[in-house]
Amino acid sequence: MLADQDRIFTNLKGLEPWTLDGARARGVWDGIAAILQKGSAAIIEEVKASGLRGRGGAGFATGMKWSFMPKPSDRPHYVIVNADESEPGTCKDRDILRFDPHRLLEGALIAAVAMHAHTVYIYIRGEFVSEAKHVQAAIDEAYAAGLLGKNAAASGWDCDVYLHRGAGAYVCGEETALIESLEGKKGQPRNKPPFPANAGLYACPTTVNNVETLASVGEIMRRGGAWYARIGRANNTGTKLFCISGHVNAPCNVEESMGISLRELIDKQAGGVRGGWDNLLAIIPGGSSVPLLPKDLCEKAIMDYDGLREVGSALGSAGVIVMDKSTDIIAAIARLSHFYMHESCGQCTPCREGTGWVWRMMERMVRGQASLEEIDTLWDATKEIEGRTICALGDAAAWPVQGLIRHFRPVMEERIRAARRKAGCA
Ligand code: SF4
Repeated sequence: MLADQDRIFTNLKGLEPWTLDGARARGVWDGIAAILQKGSAAIIEEVKASGLRGRGGAGFATGMKWSFMPKPSDRPHYVIVNADESEPGTCKDRDILRFDPHRLLEGALIAAVAMHAHTVYIYIRGEFVSEAKHVQAAIDEAYAAGLLGKNAAASGWDCDVYLHRGAGAYVCGEETALIESLEGKKGQPRNKPPFPANAGLYACPTTVNNVETLASVGEIMRRGGAWYARIGRANNTGTKLFCISGHVNAPCNVEESMGISLRELIDKQAGGVRGGWDNLLAIIPGGSSVPLLPKDLCEKAIMDYDGLREVGSALGSAGVIVMDKSTDIIAAIARLSHFYMHESCGQCTPCREGTGWVWRMMERMVRGQASLEEIDTLWDATKEIEGRTICALGDAAAWPVQGLIRHFRPVMEERIRAARRKAGCA
C-alpha cells in the first residue's frame, strides 16, 4: 500500500479547506518560483525522469508529450486542462477540482512554463457546477496573490488561466473534440495528424493534459522525479487515484501506488465485495470503456497499465466498477452500449451506425430473443467498429461487449435457451 508520506492528494476527502490558505498549509505552491526558474528543459527532464504517464486514460508519457511542443515562435502556445471527466464510473478529477484546485493550478503553471505557453484554458465538464465555482475562486485567489498573471509567481513568465465550461458531451473529453468545442464549434474529434502539438487550438501548438496528471506535477518537481519513479513498477510509476464503485461495502476515491493488486485495492480500501469475495461476479477495472474481468482474472490483476493489459483489459481512467453475483451482466453491458450509442458524435459511419446496431442486438440478448449464432454476429459488429473510427469512442463501444462475449458467452447462451424454453421452442 502507498505510504502516507508519499501521498500527493492529501485533501481528497475535502476535510481541509480548498482555498489558497488551505492549499498552502498542504505545501501547494511551495518553492514555485524556484521550480519555474529551472526553465523549460529542466522541468521536462524532471517530468520524464518521474515516468509520469497521462492519467486521463491513454497513459502516454507526460514528459515526452511536453517535449513534442515546438520551440517558441511567433505563434502562441497553449496548455489545455482536460477537466471534462465524463467516463462512467470515474470521479477522481472531480475531487481534485472541488477539494484541491490550487494543486491543479500549480501544475498547469509549471506546464505552461515548460511548454512556452502564456495561456492556459481549463475545459471543465458543464455538469460540474460547484467544482467550476471552486476552480474560478482559486484562479481569482491565485491572481490576487501574484501566482498567476503578469510575472506569475515572480518567475518572470506571464501566464493567464481561463475557465471554460463545456456543455456536457462525453466526446468532448477527446482532446481534439475538446479543442473544437473550445473554439466555439460542434465538439467533434479531428482527424490526426496533424496532432495538437503542431496544430491545436486556433491551429497553434497545444498540449492537452488531464487534471490528475497536471495536479501531480508540483510534487514531482518539489520531491524530484526519482522519488515518484520509485513508487509502483517500472514503466508504471507513481501514485494513482482509483474510483471504486458498485457492489463494495465502502465505495471510495482513493490514492494508491500503481501496481497494487486489484484484490488488495478492493479489500483494503473499499471494505471488500458485498457478501464477500466469493460473491464477486466481475469487475470493470478502468472506467466503462474497458473490457470487464471475471472473478478468476480479478484475482490475478495488477492495477497498472501493463498489469491490466496482461489480463486483457486496461487501466483507462481507473474507474473500478464492482459487480457481485446479483448483477444481470448482460443488462449491465447493454446499458453501456446505450451510453456509447447516445454519445457518438456521428461523423464516422462505423461508430454512428455500429453503436446503434450493437445496442439493439444487446437489448435482444438481454431478453434472450436471439439465436445462438447471433452472438458471433454481435462479435463481428464490434470488430467492424474497433479501430475503424476517428476517435477512441468506437473502441470504447466495442470493448465492453467483446469482454462480455469473451468471458460470459455461456451466460448469454443460457439466456437464449431459457427464452426458447419459455416460448415452448425446442
Ligand atoms: Fe464521432 Fe464516434 Fe467517430 Fe469518435 S468514433 S469521431 S465519436 S463518430
